[in-house]
Parts: sequence; structure tokens; C-alpha cells
Amino acid sequence: MKYVTEYRDAALVKGVIEEIRRTVTRSWTIMEICGGQTHSIVRHGIDQLLPPEIELVHGPGCPVCVTPLELIDKALAIASQPNVIFCSYGDMLRVPGSGRDLFSVKAQGGDVRVVYSPLDAVTLAQKNPDKQVVFFAIGFETTAPPNVMSVLQAQRLGLTNYSVLVSHVRVPPAVKAILDSPHNRVQGFLLAGHVCSIMGYWEYPPLVDEFKIPMAVTGFEPLDLVQGILTTVQLLEAGKVEVANAYQRAVTFEGLKPAQATIQKVFMECDRTWRGIGMIPMSGWCLRPEFDGFNAEKRFNVGDIQTKESPLCIAGQILQGLKKPHDCPAFGKECTTENPLGATMVSSEGACAAYYKYGR
Ligand code: SF4
Repeated sequence: MKYVTEYRDAALVKGVIEEIRRTVTRSWTIMEICGGQTHSIVRHGIDQLLPPEIELVHGPGCPVCVTPLELIDKALAIASQPNVIFCSYGDMLRVPGSGRDLFSVKAQGGDVRVVYSPLDAVTLAQKNPDKQVVFFAIGFETTAPPNVMSVLQAQRLGLTNYSVLVSHVRVPPAVKAILDSPHNRVQGFLLAGHVCSIMGYWEYPPLVDEFKIPMAVTGFEPLDLVQGILTTVQLLEAGKVEVANAYQRAVTFEGLKPAQATIQKVFMECDRTWRGIGMIPMSGWCLRPEFDGFNAEKRFNVGDIQTKESPLCIAGQILQGLKKPHDCPAFGKECTTENPLGATMVSSEGACAAYYKYGR
């Protein structure tokens, strides 16, 4: 398949890995921020092909994994109400809240539906004027444009029965939080290509200057990933602190300005709690006050939420690159993809699920 198979060419990948081997002279710890990249790395065994000096640690870039427990419990409370159609991307249905998940709500008669686009949820609202349709708007910068478009479309159509439960997060504040931590051991970052295709990478040079650490914008196919790792290792070995673009076929410095403008029209930056990590200042997007009418948290009175996380789960440390999934005592025992205790075992982008699925 054009634009896919040529980036999975084993001979080309091996050639770049040889170049990494020739370049590296000492140990380096590099974090791939994005959970999609984690899965690609583990699936293709890239971490095992690299020279032993390179350690890859996995970052918090899995939207399902970092959605705060309180928001999931609110989703469960809203989805349980009569006359509500609760819409979500599929991964969220199995993410454990304090006591149950959205699948359990569905099994108990709640109208919970998987949609492939928030615009499908808007269509449901049009077709069901006697119901309240709620879309669980989670994700990083990549899902923000369609999510804000759904709000604008509902506004255009004059719908009063559509709202969004927003749990949006942003990558740059998370990178800053990781680098600010006294326990940080990350020396270079692979930046997520899909986020940068929308946002560009103009937000990262100030972080590079502040923390004196190199970063490389990186894609998702094996060749993209090893190229991103090579670029980062070259910068580290040369002592250069800059942001390099190793994904030029999709990413520009400025990104997609119209998409950024549309996001800004509907969302504003706000503090956000990340599951397992805690609050990161200004790391989220929330609805602007003029869109309060579409805010599910304001429309539904879900009362006081008392959250309860599994005491076994160390996902927060994994998401900060401090531990690996097999460091968790519950990995593969109490916690499996069939019976997940934490969100990182559920999501198709979660590090625990990647290690479990590919037999690490
Ligand atoms: S293996 Fe399960 S319990 Fe352990 S950190 Fe991962 S999700 Fe949490």
C-alpha cells in the first residue's frame, strides 16, 4: 500500500538501526510520548533491535489512559440516566471507573453507543429530539478539531439536546511536567507526528531552550520511528539542543492554522488532572463559557463523585517513564487485557496492553 509499505521495508529499517549503532557512544534514555508509537515500537520489536545503550521509555500520550477517574465516573453517572444516549469512542467502554465501566452501564440497560465520529453523535441528536445525546470528547490535539466541529455543527443546527463531556489534554504541558520532575531521567523526546501535523511544533523550542534537551518529530511506521530515534541520538551525541523534524512528509513548523483557529474558537486552556499523574497546570482544553449550553458537566447534575483507584495499579509511574509495565506486580496476573485493572491495559494505545499483547 502506497505510503505504508515503503515505510515498513525491513532492509531500510535495518540500515537505519545500523546507523544508530555506529552513532551511539554512551547510554541514552529517550521517551516516545505517544501511545500509538509505543504500540508500533513493541509490535515491530524496534526496542529489541536497538543497541543496548538506547532505552526507550513510554510516555503519557494515550488519551484513554490519562482521562481522569472523576470524569469517567461522571460519564458513568450521566450514561446511567434515563433519556440519555451516551456516545463514545470504543476504547472508553472498557476503561474501569471506580466501580464499573460503560459496558456494565450498557449491560444494565443504559443507552451507550460507540461512534466513529462526534458528528455521528450530532446526527443521533437530530434523529432523537426527545433524548439528550452526550459525546465523551476525550483526546489530545488530534481529536480536538472533530470534537469542536461537532459543537459548532450542533450550534448551527440549533440543537438543544446535544452536549459534550470534555476531557481534552495537550502534549506540551505534559512534556514540561515530565522534565520538571525531580525524578526525570528522559534525555530526549520523540514527538507525536499526528499531534504535530495539526499543531506544528512551534510550542517546543521554548521547552528545548529551558531544559536543554533535544526532540524529534516522529511518525508511526517502523522506518519513521527508527529515523526519529536516529535523529534524536545524533542530536544527543553532538550535544545539540533543538527540535528536528523527522516526519517532514506530514508535519510543518506552523501546523494547520485553520484547525488551530477552529479549536481556539470553542476551547480555552485550563488546568487538567491526568489519571495516575495528577493535575498539570494549563494542560487541558475546556469549553469556552459561550458554549456552556453544550457542556454536559453543566447540563447534568451528577452530584459529588468519590473516586476509588485500584491500589495495585502503577500506571501513573509508567505514564511518566519511571517504570515499565512488567515492573507492575499485577501485570499478567490480576491485570490482563480481559480483566484490566488500569486504563493502560485497556486502551489500544496503552503501554501495558502493548507489552501484554506482544508477549513482553
Ligand atoms: S499492569 Fe494493570 S495494574 Fe499494572 S500498571 Fe498496568 S494497568 Fe495498572
